[in-house]
Amino acid sequence: MKKPGRHFDTALVRNSLNEKLLTFSHKRLIKDLEEIQNEKIPTVGVTARPLETDLFTWHANIRGPEKTPYEGGVFHLELKFPQSYPNHPPTIRIFNNIPHPNVFGGYICLDILQQYDSKVEEGSGWTSAYSVQSILTQLQSFLFEENLSADKAKVEMEIKKAVKDANSFKCASCKHGGKLSLWPAFNSKENSIEEFETIEDENEIIRKELICFHTKLTYQQNQLGLGVNISKIPRTGLIKDGETFFDYISIKAFIKESRNLTSHNEKITHWLPVYFGSGDNEDRFFHLLKKAFSMIMTNSTKNFRP
Ligand SMILES: [Zn+2]
Repeated sequence: MKKPGRHFDTALVRNSLNEKLLTFSHKRLIKDLEEIQNEKIPTVGVTARPLETDLFTWHANIRGPEKTPYEGGVFHLELKFPQSYPNHPPTIRIFNNIPHPNVFGGYICLDILQQYDSKVEEGSGWTSAYSVQSILTQLQSFLFEENLSADKAKVEMEIKKAVKDANSFKCASCKHGGKLSLWPAFNSKENSIEEFETIEDENEIIRKELICFHTKLTYQQNQLGLGVNISKIPRTGLIKDGETFFDYISIKAFIKESRNLTSHNEKITHWLPVYFGSGDNEDRFFHLLKKAFSMIMTNSTKNFRP
């Protein structure tokens, strides 16, 4: 029998997969799961887990926020991730339809769930910086925002029905059996938030922010750096312009996963490592710094084998 514990869900997922066959999408989804499981300050009212048989299909519960017509309701959702996640967004379906101008037959039409299109607008749409947790938090505020419909009484009736239907919904694909039998359950620490806020010390908060937005690897797991956009004069090869973006991107994301956009979908052409002090790997940093400069000067990723 497996020992239940803090890492039980991730252990279960890992055991069911052959480590050697894991793709980047698998690894990123496991990171997303760890983020939800290991959070010190639980996100109130959202929870999600992958189905036991399929890491690319997750079921989630979102609670209707207090002081809204949705209060008391728990809504069950399905997130389906493409094999290209996190380069492409998941498709999200809410099992019980709710009266909302952007929900059509259960499918949710939301800006952050639209594939980023460089022709439309820089800085909008999906970005790989989103995780399951941040998607759900955004959904929670988006789905239950005030509906500015003219017919208030009618909408309130519809919401009442939606809440009732959602609370008695029994899912055919997972163990969720309505409000009284939730799967996945909400974080049991939810009600003791104040207690948990004091536990997190300053260093831990800083350390937590030193992660690659794309791979979610920490600065200790993989060299982090900044994306830069350098334009050159074609004839001479001289640097014409350079722009640096301040969100950390790992060498793995930039080289191996060919991520050439920032977390806000701005284009990057090159990468420069950043050194974070004593906890960081100094040798690795200097090695990559030399390589990064040579890459900017020669415009080539040849001989760049981190
Ligand atoms: Zn379900």
